[in-house]
Amino acid sequence: MLDLQYEELIRAAALNWLTNEDPDQSRPFRFEDLAQFSFQGRSIPLMDHQKGIRKPSHMAAALSIRTTYTPPGRPRPYEDHVGSEGLHRYKYRGNDPQHPENVALRVAMTHHLPLIWFYGALPGLYVALRPIWIVGEEPSQLQFVVAAGVEDTLIAPGRAVDSDQRAYVQRLTRQRIHQPVFRVQVLTAYEHQCAICRLRYDELLDAAHILPDGHPRGTPDVVNGLALCKIHHAAYDQNLIGVRPDLKVIVRQDIQLDLDGPMLRHGLQEMNQVELVVPRSRADRPDPSRLEERYEEFRRAG
Ligand SMILES: [Zn+2]
Repeated sequence: MLDLQYEELIRAAALNWLTNEDPDQSRPFRFEDLAQFSFQGRSIPLMDHQKGIRKPSHMAAALSIRTTYTPPGRPRPYEDHVGSEGLHRYKYRGNDPQHPENVALRVAMTHHLPLIWFYGALPGLYVALRPIWIVGEEPSQLQFVVAAGVEDTLIAPGRAVDSDQRAYVQRLTRQRIHQPVFRVQVLTAYEHQCAICRLRYDELLDAAHILPDGHPRGTPDVVNGLALCKIHHAAYDQNLIGVRPDLKVIVRQDIQLDLDGPMLRHGLQEMNQVELVVPRSRADRPDPSRLEERYEEFRRAG
């Protein structure tokens, strides 16, 4: 039995709870963290430990979906399952459209109920993407169509879109899915410190791209990332600071010669020639060829 009011209230409570725990959608959750949620005195884990689609037994509509972590080198689901209009696809549980979990996602779709998408950033660690909606179904391909943000609910699944619309959806996808997942992966690899100055405050750290978004090799992969504090991120993006492929930090000549207060002296000038801090795991270290290409741009800018 569908109790629409209950379905709406529990979603509002769950989304509020997540906002309190994770205001900027960048904190990774473990299953145990998500088991702390309760509503009207009843404990209701937000994610299913075993299954991709979470439907609490007393509810009619699904509450969340889950995508498990994909190790580097394997095609990621968000590259794999995107329709021509740019919207994501989520596979049925099994191949029976009437499986109770598929039915529960269909109920959420029919009643426009928001859901949460737990997206694996690392083994056992999930970013909580929300709210999302199920906006269509492709039974012949055993999948649902997902709108990963409210703007996407305006796009008709399967409809041909022009290049501007597609670029717009892709940009939103980067912001809403790739960036939070990339941030968790990069900050974890760099042990939550700036690769240039070692500052250790998550609130002041970003996951910077070596080659930018939009560049053919500007992918959201850890090897194209650097954990940088806000100042060094901006300085890197604006070519005030470069990183040589041999991992030496280089401060632009005119910045080195300028005279100003302690932020310039300690924050920038003293970073010249320091060794970049890199992840312990070799597989996570910056890709030298991308550093080289990016460093050439820094040199040209200088
Ligand atoms: Zn820094």
